[in-house]
Amino acid sequence: MGESKTVHSALVTYTSVISLLTLCPPFVILLWYTMVHADGSVLQTFEYLKQHGLQGLKDILPAPSPIAWKLIACFGAFEAILQLALPGKRVEGPISPNGNIPVYKANGLQAYAVTLVTYLSLWWFGIFNPAIVYDHLGEIYSALVMGSLVFCLFLYLKGHVAPSSSDSGSSGNFIIDFYWGMELYPRIGKHFDIKVFTNCRFGMMSWAVLAVTYCIKQYEMNGQVSDSMLVNTVLMLVYITKFFWWEAGYWCTMDIAHDRAGFYICWGCLVWVPSIYTSPGMYLVNHPVSLGTQLALFILVSGLLCIYINYDCDRQRQEFRRTNGKCLIWGKAPSKIVASYRTEKGETKTSLLLTSGWWGVSRHFHYVPEILAAFFWTVPALFNHFLPYFYVLFLTILLFDRAKRDDDRCASKYGKYWKMYCNKVPYRVIPGIH
Ligand code: NDP
Repeated sequence: MGESKTVHSALVTYTSVISLLTLCPPFVILLWYTMVHADGSVLQTFEYLKQHGLQGLKDILPAPSPIAWKLIACFGAFEAILQLALPGKRVEGPISPNGNIPVYKANGLQAYAVTLVTYLSLWWFGIFNPAIVYDHLGEIYSALVMGSLVFCLFLYLKGHVAPSSSDSGSSGNFIIDFYWGMELYPRIGKHFDIKVFTNCRFGMMSWAVLAVTYCIKQYEMNGQVSDSMLVNTVLMLVYITKFFWWEAGYWCTMDIAHDRAGFYICWGCLVWVPSIYTSPGMYLVNHPVSLGTQLALFILVSGLLCIYINYDCDRQRQEFRRTNGKCLIWGKAPSKIVASYRTEKGETKTSLLLTSGWWGVSRHFHYVPEILAAFFWTVPALFNHFLPYFYVLFLTILLFDRAKRDDDRCASKYGKYWKMYCNKVPYRVIPGIH
């Protein structure tokens, strides 16, 4: 377990794990503070901290308030009920290293539609004002930071005492187990899948809800929504809609099929997604840039194109695997490698590797439009401050590291067949460069 242990040296692994565990929580609060109270200026926050030192940091840390806990509890409970109660097709995930096949109910798109319609209706009929969420954002992030750390501890204990399947195990080291997780498919009861909840129904859903919240807050403040905010919100919502439309496909990706439920994935989705991923919109609330119709449309169309290409890359791979290679890729029969590998139980199995279409351009080409899409929903903020671009920078580092992790994992899984793929498609992410 803990793939990345094999990728980086022990020193790099421990240093990065401990740095991430200690630095990410305060970073979330500092980012919120800078966006909301320091004009989005890192320099302003830095000057403030220089002047006031540790006491200054303590003063800006918002305590998780009762209203913050209530908002989180209502949202979490609502999403959990939708996950369990809404109808959906039975879907099987990919076979796990221990030969288990997780079964899911594909009702993400319905949950997404019900969530947005409910949220907008509550606002429209004057029952709940989403601007309240923005006004208590700091307290909400504080509560999420703490609550999610406790939740990760629960995952660690559950992995030890009551794992849901045989796809669970300990590295023998508390920090690594807490960080990378122990269980691949933790569940509460038979049906409530914890990773579907944390990653999709809480993390991705909160991204959509916060995007709408920022728009409404700007409207309440200025009596109108700027074109920059509109472009940002539309692009983020199209991206999230694509995610929920394709949610069952997401259950076959690394996050679900390879990464275990621990701080890295679950804390990331419960805290990092609602704070960092939504941050360009958070910045735009009190920076209503006017782009003009032409520029706004240009950014919108470019962003939509990137989201489509990213979707098409994922679609090609999944269609190819689902039809066992009997599909057309860019109008032609796909070129492929039949790769065999041995499971942990010692059985020999085969997988198909697609070597044409987007997957023939580079081995992880889909990360390029993913990063560009994030750039296009951030660029409406223009270039007055760096901080709105933090998500783009973070995503670039995350995906380049992920490409390496995935290559290393696939090289050890497929051996000579992966080498054949690398010979045929030599570039990892950016064709001709990397
Ligand atoms: P992928 O969908 O790229 O899945 C990687 C797996 O696909 C590999 O482990 C391997 O699994 C299989 N595979 C690799 N090469 C081939 C090939 N040539 N043909 C067929 N199968 C192959 O992983 P990700 O989870 O990284 O990406 C999924 C989506 O999520 C992407 O759109 C990505 O951009 C997005 N994403 C977004 C993030 C964000 O924070 N915004 C973070 C991460 C991803 P196997 O063992 O089955 O062979």
